Amino acid sequence: KQWVYSFGSGKADGNASMRSLLGGKGAGLAEMSVLGLPVPPGFTITTEVCTYFNKNSGTFPPALIVHVTEALQSIEKQMSAVFGDSSCPLLVSVRSGARASMPGMMDTVLNLGLNDKTVEGLSNQSGDPRFAYDCYRRFIQMFADVVMGIEHHNFEEIIEEHKKTLGITLDTELSATHLKAMIEDYKSKIQEKAGKQFPQDPNTQLWDSIAAVFRSWSNPRAKTYRKLNNIPHDWGTAVNIQAMVYGNMGDDSATGVAFTRDPSTGENILYGEYLINAQGEDVVAGIRTPQHLSIRSRQAQQSTLPALEETMPEMFRQLETIRGKLERHFGDMQDMEFTVQRGILYMLQTRAGKCTTSAALKIACDMVSEGLITQDEAVLRIKPVSLNQLLHPMLDPKAKRQILARGLPASPGAACGRVVFTAEEAERHALAGEKVILCRGETSPEDIHGMHAAEGIVTTQGGMTSHAAVVARGMGRPCVAGASEIVISYEESTMRVRNGLLRAGDWLTLDGGTGEVLAGKVATIEPKLSGDFARVMSWADAVRKLKIMANADTAVDCRKAIELGAEGVGLCRTEHMFFQEGRIVAVREMIMAKTKEERLSALERVLPMQRGDFVEIFKIMEGRTVTIRLLDPPLHEFLPHGEAEIVELANATGTAVETIREQVLKQAEVNPMLGHRGCRVGVTYPEIYAMQTRAVLEAALEVSRAEGRRVSADIMIPFVAMEGEVRVLRELINGVAQEVLGDDETEVAYRVGTMIELPRAALAAGKIARETSFFSFGTNDLTQTALGLSRDDAARFLKVYEERGLLERDPFVSIDQEGVGELIRIAAQRGRETRPDLDLCLCGEHGGDADSVEFCHKVGLDSVSCSPYRVPIARLAAAQAVL
Ligand code: ADP
Ligand code: MG
Ligand code: MG
Repeated sequence: KQWVYSFGSGKADGNASMRSLLGGKGAGLAEMSVLGLPVPPGFTITTEVCTYFNKNSGTFPPALIVHVTEALQSIEKQMSAVFGDSSCPLLVSVRSGARASMPGMMDTVLNLGLNDKTVEGLSNQSGDPRFAYDCYRRFIQMFADVVMGIEHHNFEEIIEEHKKTLGITLDTELSATHLKAMIEDYKSKIQEKAGKQFPQDPNTQLWDSIAAVFRSWSNPRAKTYRKLNNIPHDWGTAVNIQAMVYGNMGDDSATGVAFTRDPSTGENILYGEYLINAQGEDVVAGIRTPQHLSIRSRQAQQSTLPALEETMPEMFRQLETIRGKLERHFGDMQDMEFTVQRGILYMLQTRAGKCTTSAALKIACDMVSEGLITQDEAVLRIKPVSLNQLLHPMLDPKAKRQILARGLPASPGAACGRVVFTAEEAERHALAGEKVILCRGETSPEDIHGMHAAEGIVTTQGGMTSHAAVVARGMGRPCVAGASEIVISYEESTMRVRNGLLRAGDWLTLDGGTGEVLAGKVATIEPKLSGDFARVMSWADAVRKLKIMANADTAVDCRKAIELGAEGVGLCRTEHMFFQEGRIVAVREMIMAKTKEERLSALERVLPMQRGDFVEIFKIMEGRTVTIRLLDPPLHEFLPHGEAEIVELANATGTAVETIREQVLKQAEVNPMLGHRGCRVGVTYPEIYAMQTRAVLEAALEVSRAEGRRVSADIMIPFVAMEGEVRVLRELINGVAQEVLGDDETEVAYRVGTMIELPRAALAAGKIARETSFFSFGTNDLTQTALGLSRDDAARFLKVYEERGLLERDPFVSIDQEGVGELIRIAAQRGRETRPDLDLCLCGEHGGDADSVEFCHKVGLDSVSCSPYRVPIARLAAAQAVL
């Protein structure tokens, strides 16, 4: 078995297609080597070794030692240096790298191979003792952190002490002698904290680091990240061992990160940041302010620090060439790491870049125009849920704003919430339903759960590629990074801003598109969708087979639905209208009436209100199908709650309070969700469904006549369990239709259908289909009834199920395909056996979930219906299901 894959000098054992085995980083390094890019030589230990390691209580496959030794010898040859040699030492990095990118979640060790002897060799060889001891210091610190579990701050404190005693402010002012002294303190600290010495043997260093990287796959923050991003826990990480190149060898050396296009706007320019005389993660760590790569973006962001294009024009030119090469090769925006060692450029990483959704759309469109990708590829490029970002509100340009500080526009969108200073607080308040803004000096991977819980993030340090910026963009959270005017005091839970002081709990607004941090709550407005969005969506619409409808109850919903591309209303819930101002009394009378006469008189007052609502909806929908669900919720929900409402109803109807109270007691239910609701109400009080049907059809007729356009109304019977229910209710509906419309169907086309939301209905679908023209799967109730799981209470314990791995995803978010999905499949098949032209729709919350939409496509449904804001997600997901 091949456990190890080498790369370097224009060759590689692996390539980009071997991500599962080599991880993203290893596959990228191999591919760049083959492309002839300057990649320091190295090798990848496969993810299979990680799996082996985890299964065999932290041991390696026996053959691994030999393979690693051979691969290491090959690096030695290419670098003309020897691992552990005291005159000409080879140093390597030990880098994690999973199949899916998990930025900053796992560990990496740099400058490995240094000890008290080899550091002398490095010093002589480079002619720069300061550089050599800087590498040694960094290595000890990283090794101690990653392998021995001694946190960074222990060492930061030592650095600070030394600087203080020496009266120095910058790290770069520390001389070789100072560093040497610091290293001795580092070693004592390790002895003190770990009870053992820092290991001098390079082989021990190497194997301990490899094991530590494998273990880092299972650290809590990596686990959280995988959970949030649906990455399976059994994938494992690869380990990359690679010859070191040094960006900290003086002023002709540098390190940086680069994107082949601007990840915030999508603009086609080399975008990124670098630091002169620095190493590894200095750029993202936010210790020094990074500089821009291109003059253009330096100017755009009004930075006075010179760009790489100015300080190292030749390196910039080479990066430009590589940018073009990589984009043509991968056909996707790339995110790269590079290092310049004494005027020579090295590439250390490339991967598909994360960017904002609007940038992704622009890049996809531009790449189609540039001939790099096809329209179908462009459609596949965009993650459906990421479209949520575009629908984020923006600050109302007319709203008054008081700027407290300015930072970098790290992730677009406006957010408003109360100030919190730790990830824990953020999570706690968010769970309590509060909106919070997480404010930090900088964020680290430990903070991701808090960033996720927050509406937005503000940091006082770090650049556009800092941890906060990258993670926020990926999550779609608005973020302002590096707002350096702000001074946070964690001890006092305060932050000092331009005009004063904010405390935890104060309101704050941020605009991640401009980098402004604003006082209080600032009004927001709905965003405008770009031409790029429209283009990609039109390509999606051209390939998808599913029709996308919206769940919309009001005029506002309907307008939004059309704007976002809905082809009709798949679910209009009539009861929402009942709760409107001034109506509830009549509705309560209708429900609590003791005689049919009383009920009819109440219904007479409700009818015109309902009709009015439907008139408005039919007008807005301009002939598109509107699917109306007859009254569904438990009658229990309409009963007056508490004494005040009972008295109010008594006064309004001139009934004795006592009588109302008795009625309430009589109608109250122990288990209303399985009680007097849905078509059961239609069976017991046919007058109610008759009134609703009349309201729908009269409205349809009115609009059709007024506008000279055929109106299409689908009437849907909810909570059906058996054929008989449908039969009697269909007769009732047809009877009313006969009265309102006669035999003429030219003006109004109406159909009668049923919701399928009970397991019995799904199983009896063959019979039910005899009575209906369409099914609509109400997957919220179907999930609830199939799993015997109350959707209102399940969140409390489902969390534990997810944590323990009993459930991969919340079944109320993404269809439980094995159970609920199977019921849908059976119902679809049995229904169509009876009636081949049976129209099949899904109208639960799942209609806006990409995986569920794909499922609907696969089982052959005709349409899905979801809330208006998720219509674009459904359109895109439906297209991707085809491609
Ligand atoms: P991450 O996945 O967290 O980005 P990496 O393995 O990419 O971790 O490494 C962290 C940093 O160290 C990156 O900036 C990378 O460029 C740098 N680095 C890694 N290996 C080397 C090397 N062989 N020479 C120089 N710098 C390196
Ligand atoms: Mg890292
Ligand atoms: Mg990296």
